[in-house]
Amino acid sequence: MTARDAHKKAHKKAKALKPQSRRPAKDLCSECGLCDTYYIHYVKEACAFLNQQFDALETQTHGRSRQVENWDDCYFGVHNQMMAARKIDPIAGAQWTGIVSAIAIEMLEKGLVEGVVCVQNTPDDRFQPMPVIARSREEILAARVNKPTLSPNLSVLEQIEQSGLRRLLVIGVGCQIQALRAVEAKLGLEKLYVLGTPCVDNVTRAGLQKFLDTTSRSPDTVVHYEFMQDFRVHFKHEDGSEETVPFFGLKTNQLKDVFAPSCMSCFDYVNGLADLVVGYMGAPFGWQWIVVRNGRGQEMLDLVQDQLETQPVMARGDRHNAVQQSIPAYDKGVTLPMWAAKLMGIVIEKVGPKGLEYARFSIDSHFTRNYLYVKRNYPQKLGDHVPEFAQKIVDQYQLPD
Ligand code: FAD
Ligand code: SF4
Repeated sequence: MTARDAHKKAHKKAKALKPQSRRPAKDLCSECGLCDTYYIHYVKEACAFLNQQFDALETQTHGRSRQVENWDDCYFGVHNQMMAARKIDPIAGAQWTGIVSAIAIEMLEKGLVEGVVCVQNTPDDRFQPMPVIARSREEILAARVNKPTLSPNLSVLEQIEQSGLRRLLVIGVGCQIQALRAVEAKLGLEKLYVLGTPCVDNVTRAGLQKFLDTTSRSPDTVVHYEFMQDFRVHFKHEDGSEETVPFFGLKTNQLKDVFAPSCMSCFDYVNGLADLVVGYMGAPFGWQWIVVRNGRGQEMLDLVQDQLETQPVMARGDRHNAVQQSIPAYDKGVTLPMWAAKLMGIVIEKVGPKGLEYARFSIDSHFTRNYLYVKRNYPQKLGDHVPEFAQKIVDQYQLPD
């Protein structure tokens, strides 16, 4: 039997099952899309929640794995350089200034790739993800802005073989990229570029509704939101108005179960296997944060360099106390009254961590929370699932049982 026949046989068998029983990660499944394709054949090795293999995949992708004795490697993954950047002429309607969309457009129009895996939304719901292989500037732009929901980006992988694509750019978040790297050699591509974003606290579509309903003054008109470096959630509404809610005012007691179990057990916040990562959390407020991991990442960044203003990354403050204090507060679901939350937001914005130190604050807060989640809910997975770099980060703090 050829590999292709084996794929097809596995796929046929899997398709006969309901989606939930088809996905072996079960509750931990992030709906990355791999199990919707005949590459399900490789799921036991490829799934980020069944087989943690950062070291091997980093070596395969970047030529080396993280050096855990190097704190910058532990936090930000293998990288050649980092910077803060923003588009001189921002793309209207993008999540930030549209650096991701701009790179994808250049790659397609300069002929480096023939297609771009990205995620648009369905016609009747702006937050319902619809992965596509974009073949034009318009299709890439139609995918701009975050769909803050679990998105089966890899579900389009079968189309690569069917359409004869040989050079591809994939845009995606960490769990999607881990599975992609694990099957990369089977895709028959001549060249694969990966443009990643950091990702944390993702939700199902129903979970998103609960988040919007409990947090925003007008959930139905939200077109865009982001947890920003000023310790506030910024909502943008249909009429162009902006609403901000301090992190410390979130109704933690109601929101504790809203995040997907996959995201509560993820340690790949910074998308360690992408060639180039574009986020915001290591940059000053209003700027995007760029991490170049290897030569392919540099090649991608070079294409848009003349569209960007940049500045070096910086770090200010010390996150440790704030992280340590937030661990029991989150664990107990403490919710502050809004006046106290606003006051705390103002103080922490003035004296709190900035730049890379803010990124470390966010990574520490999420890794300690997620470590506790895995320890309590999947104790048998703890040893294999938590990578060494994450264990080192978590070990800086005292955790409740
Ligand atoms: P745009 O030009 O607007 O392009 C956005 C791209 O994101 C599109 O190409 C689209 O295909 C892709 N995309 C949208 N939704 C999804 C999805 N659900 N899964 C995969 N790909 C998607 N950055 C941080 O620094 N810290 C964070 O905590 C953080 N959390 C994030 C959580 C999610 C769910 C996502 C999708 C991104 C997150 N980011 C985070 C990245 C950040 O919000 C911006 O996406 C990034 O800076 C790019 O902005 P842009 O204006 O260049 O993107
Ligand atoms: Fe399959 Fe992806 Fe879910 Fe893992 S996370 S079970 S690979 S769909």
